Amino acid sequence: MINIILPDNSVRQYPEGITGMEIAKSISEGLAHNVLSVLVNDEVWDATRPIRTDAKIRLLTWNDEEGKGTFWHSSAHLMAEAIELLYPGAKFGIGPHIENGFYYDIDFGDKAISSEDFPKIEAKMQELAKENQVFVRKEVPKAEALDYFTKKNDEYKIELLQDLEDGQITFYESGHFTDLCRGPHLPDTSAIKAVKLLNTAGAYWRGDETRHQLTRIYGVTFPKQKELTDYLALLEEAKKRDHRKIGKEMELFTFSQKVGLGLPLWLPKGALLRERLEMFLKKVQKKAGYQQVICPHIGNVELYKTSGHFQKYGESSFHPITTPVPGEEFFLKPMNCPHHCEIYSYKPRSYKDLPVRIAEFGTVYRYEQSGELHGLTRVRGFTQDDAHIFCTPEQVKDEFKGVIDIVMLIFKALDFKDFVTQISFRDKNNKEKYIGTDENWEKAEKDILEVAQERNLNYVIAPGEAAFYGPKMDFMVKDALGRKWQLGTIQVDYNLPDRFELEYIGSDNQKHRPVMIHRAPFGSMERFVAVLIEHTAGQFPLWLTPDQAIILPISEKYSNYAEKVLQFLNNSDIRAQIDNRNEKAGKKIRDAELAKIPFMLVVGEREETDGTVSVRKHGQGDLGPQKLEDFARFITGEVAKELGEIN
Ligand SMILES: [Zn+2]
Ligand SMILES: [Zn+2]
Repeated sequence: MINIILPDNSVRQYPEGITGMEIAKSISEGLAHNVLSVLVNDEVWDATRPIRTDAKIRLLTWNDEEGKGTFWHSSAHLMAEAIELLYPGAKFGIGPHIENGFYYDIDFGDKAISSEDFPKIEAKMQELAKENQVFVRKEVPKAEALDYFTKKNDEYKIELLQDLEDGQITFYESGHFTDLCRGPHLPDTSAIKAVKLLNTAGAYWRGDETRHQLTRIYGVTFPKQKELTDYLALLEEAKKRDHRKIGKEMELFTFSQKVGLGLPLWLPKGALLRERLEMFLKKVQKKAGYQQVICPHIGNVELYKTSGHFQKYGESSFHPITTPVPGEEFFLKPMNCPHHCEIYSYKPRSYKDLPVRIAEFGTVYRYEQSGELHGLTRVRGFTQDDAHIFCTPEQVKDEFKGVIDIVMLIFKALDFKDFVTQISFRDKNNKEKYIGTDENWEKAEKDILEVAQERNLNYVIAPGEAAFYGPKMDFMVKDALGRKWQLGTIQVDYNLPDRFELEYIGSDNQKHRPVMIHRAPFGSMERFVAVLIEHTAGQFPLWLTPDQAIILPISEKYSNYAEKVLQFLNNSDIRAQIDNRNEKAGKKIRDAELAKIPFMLVVGEREETDGTVSVRKHGQGDLGPQKLEDFARFITGEVAKELGEIN
């Protein structure tokens, strides 16, 4: 008999070789019906795989991320099976699950596959799923595995096999398809009821641009048709909110092939919007004792060799810039931290100077493959709202508190109500993987946890997810469509202070190493604006939006009065423009609605005589006439409410 520990810490005894599915059945038939896979000692297993030793388990269903992962990865096999039957000779790369669905990278030879082929593949997948094909796990000797894929002429699987040790190779068979795979998978295909292939993309084999380009097919599957229908409706809504589309409509940013892929050009309205975000944060940071600095966009290669960034980015990112001086090389900065370390050490520091908080909207450059680029969310040049705090180990707790408070102010001013905090600690069983003393790690982890509790954060702890150089805290927001985005981050760092030999003189008159904290509440301006656009569908908070009002004269006769209204608003610090086109009022209103301008001010004879404007609110309609002063006061009041104490 073996001891099985369930999530409620109760222990049950089962015969050796019991499976997750059998354990589920012993609890309830209903549960067994929903089980997709099982977590065995922190590893996801097939629900049908025998458990031979004492283990801590958790049964996974559609409600668990891991359960969904099993469902979707199994669906990738199902798609591969359908494709192999429909397109004999297709060769398969890798087919993992992703956040929402799965993909498989496939070499179709000379054949081009497009979305027109999807219905045929989907129908085949549905047909195969109904056969209730069982996923059979087989441990296979390496020679046999190589032989199988050599006969099949699949060089991709052969290459993957070459990296694996004999004795750790498993095949999974389902229906007509056999795959080299670590698993886990569903017990069988019967749970897959709804299938949708979404799109194709080119994907270099092993992410290497010098190698063959495969066709990546993305898909998603569900246990119920209704869930697929809901998901597709969500995708439709997401399409409407796509920041690339709205960014174009609102004239916020653009890209130019000539300038280069992944290098955004901020248009005047976007630049002003970004400036307002920056001013907002600068104001908050000034109050919180940060000092703003400015650094160049390049640095000597030696700087990044010291920091270790050259080892990390040197080969795989933009290559160094040479100069007429032989041997001299500069590197586009991938991180602001090294420059800031040099700012810290430009003069001797005493414990009385700490914490030193250095902030910069610093632009960094990292090479991303063209296939990875996406609007403003994946770019090759971006500006971080970066800051580095140099402090004593005792100050870490208060500094975390301060940064969390800034993050909360931002979330409030931008209406992100739903977020979780992930706290990443080191793997206590592998302490040698991490730099820094045991004492400092333990203290920092304890401090971070306490701060999270004191600040009432909704947090999860991720053991083993810390960087090698220190624990961290990340903020994931859920947008209006329920999609998760990682935004702000706070990271403790024991590594760079060592590499740069940073020091301060303590109260004991001895030299000490400061702790460094990296933090970026927005993350990057580019990504943050993208998330904000998709969250608000372009209807930004009033304090941030490009034009707060648009003046609509009902005919040319009133353009003088419109001009006066504009001046008045400008003098009251309200951003507005006039629609002077020779169009009917109805058309002007419709266009202003499309442009998502919060307030429309219609002016004609009556308004001119009374010194008023007829106010319409975006998405709501007529609010009636208002005295110009009253309208201005109203807007100023609304902005003050949104910004709260920042104003
Ligand atoms: Zn698999
Ligand atoms: Zn940093």
